[in-house]
Amino acid sequence: MPRPASEAPTPIPGGERLLQRMFTRLGCHGRPPHFVVEFYPYANLTHTARLAKDFARVRLSDVLRHAPSQVIEAAAALLLARAYRIKPPAELRDRYQRFCRAPETRRKLERIRKRRCRPALPAADRFDLAAMFERLNRRYFVAALRRPRLAWSLRAWRVQMGQYDPALDRIVLSRRLDRPDVPRAVVEYVLYHEMLHVKHPAQFARCGFRAHSCEFREEEKRFARYDEARRWLLRLR
Ligand SMILES: [Zn+2]
Repeated sequence: MPRPASEAPTPIPGGERLLQRMFTRLGCHGRPPHFVVEFYPYANLTHTARLAKDFARVRLSDVLRHAPSQVIEAAAALLLARAYRIKPPAELRDRYQRFCRAPETRRKLERIRKRRCRPALPAADRFDLAAMFERLNRRYFVAALRRPRLAWSLRAWRVQMGQYDPALDRIVLSRRLDRPDVPRAVVEYVLYHEMLHVKHPAQFARCGFRAHSCEFREEEKRFARYDEARRWLLRLR
């Protein structure tokens, strides 16, 4: 089925000129590559740049499609700065962050995520996630955490093993963990980590703000088999 027009990548008019201008403004070294720039229907405020020797494909989230040109400029500059490891000017960073924080942007993102996020399967397989949630809740959260929806991803994710999405109020664990070779403690650890995200909501995580505060990291270490679970997950990669 063809995607509706609003869900397809579209070239950004004047995108190449814009990227070259930001390239110069940031003081990136060397000759600018040939930029191919498009709006891409990410489920979040995600922007990506793939750089080859003299060619770069830049994709800006299409959430920016109707944003003021100065915001698009700032997003492009921050993306380039990250790709070229340059500290971006504070002015551009602030401008972009103001846009991210604006209630109108948050609402728009929420609508898009509800539409675009992949469905997930109800949790019913080897591990009973609801029962596991309740056990962890009693042990580590004095049973005070409310339970979001729990599900397994449709496909086995490789890098990310779990995700909490506040807009959907849903924890999804990678189907990769729903296998006989995975120790229960590992699944518990991943679920525990996502439960901490429920407890410590990172409002702006999607805009590159830190989702794991020091407090979060300290609390994570309270998990009884923390080292063992982390070691096991590292081997999985
Ligand atoms: Zn996390």
